Amino acid sequence: MEMTMEHTTTEVMNDDQRTKIIRREVQLASKEIRAKYPFLQHQNAIGFFIFSFSIAMIVLSAVLYLQGTIGVIAVVLSVAFWTSLLHELEHDLIHYMYFKKNKFMHNLMMLGVWVFRPMTINPWFRRDLHFHHHRTSGTKTDIEERGVTNGETWGFRRFITTADILLGGVLRGNIIRKDIIEAVKNGELPKEQALVFKKVKMYGMMPFTLALYFVWYFFLAHYALHFISDIFNLGYQSPAIIEAQFKWINPLVAILILPNLFRMFSLHFITSNMHYYGDVELGNVMQQTQVLNKWYFLPFQLFCFNFGSTHAIHHFVVNETFYVRQMTASKAHKVMQEQGVRFNDVASFLRANRFMKAS
Ligand SMILES: [Zn+2]
Ligand SMILES: [Zn+2]
Repeated sequence: MEMTMEHTTTEVMNDDQRTKIIRREVQLASKEIRAKYPFLQHQNAIGFFIFSFSIAMIVLSAVLYLQGTIGVIAVVLSVAFWTSLLHELEHDLIHYMYFKKNKFMHNLMMLGVWVFRPMTINPWFRRDLHFHHHRTSGTKTDIEERGVTNGETWGFRRFITTADILLGGVLRGNIIRKDIIEAVKNGELPKEQALVFKKVKMYGMMPFTLALYFVWYFFLAHYALHFISDIFNLGYQSPAIIEAQFKWINPLVAILILPNLFRMFSLHFITSNMHYYGDVELGNVMQQTQVLNKWYFLPFQLFCFNFGSTHAIHHFVVNETFYVRQMTASKAHKVMQEQGVRFNDVASFLRANRFMKAS
């Protein structure tokens, strides 16, 4: 009899109630961890420690590479790993997790996480895109996720624009622009928000991001020319002034550009596939994400701090730091699984990240 009652209750429970249950359990798990390890209350200090330590490790890797102690693969993997911690800090900073009341320290950290991850959008601009992502996840105005290929069919285009947000922006800019204009017309998106998107598009990549993408394209074009010339024996020689630039371009590519592109590929591959797109009910957290935590995602998770496993938890409970979220992940996953959040729905990769409510 009791079994039947329980069964009936589960049946009639809607996604709102399920979301509340998950939220309550995750918040409880955070509370328990914080009670068990009182040092976690020193949130600003912990954040600043991770920030300084990661930057120190990036600088150390760069020095070792420049001295010839470590090779290019080692520097790329090391910087990609440490900048992935800076990405988590950036996301926490966007949600005002560190130095909320100390503007100087807060902005110093925002600047630091950008300078060492310079292929990304200015974090002060990204804050608005990201808050909009939480409000509209999975719908056509969720620019943040669409900007990293979420909702697209897999193919060569998606592959080459997974890491490269500038090329991605150029290739899909028109489609997204049309969707935004339509959403404003339909009253689905406030005009002010559309104007903010326009501002982000115009200024969000200035100055570091744009400059570094151009250095990267210049690097690619230069070596491609030499490669083609070598194959066909064309004897191409680039002018001395151009050759001279590669004294600083080569190390910059090894130390900063390649590691960030590699890290962004890992992160964007995971995030664009763990968020559902297109047929998600506005504001329904149960439909917004899935958990990707199978072993075969590990090579990517290593360079995005286990994002596939933990970002879905963040959609339920926004105000928690990334390391506490990681510490409570197993409890969170348990209740999420009980309430029907999807895990490792790899078939969604083949349906352009559609949720498909009927399935
Ligand atoms: Zn998200
Ligand atoms: Zn967030």
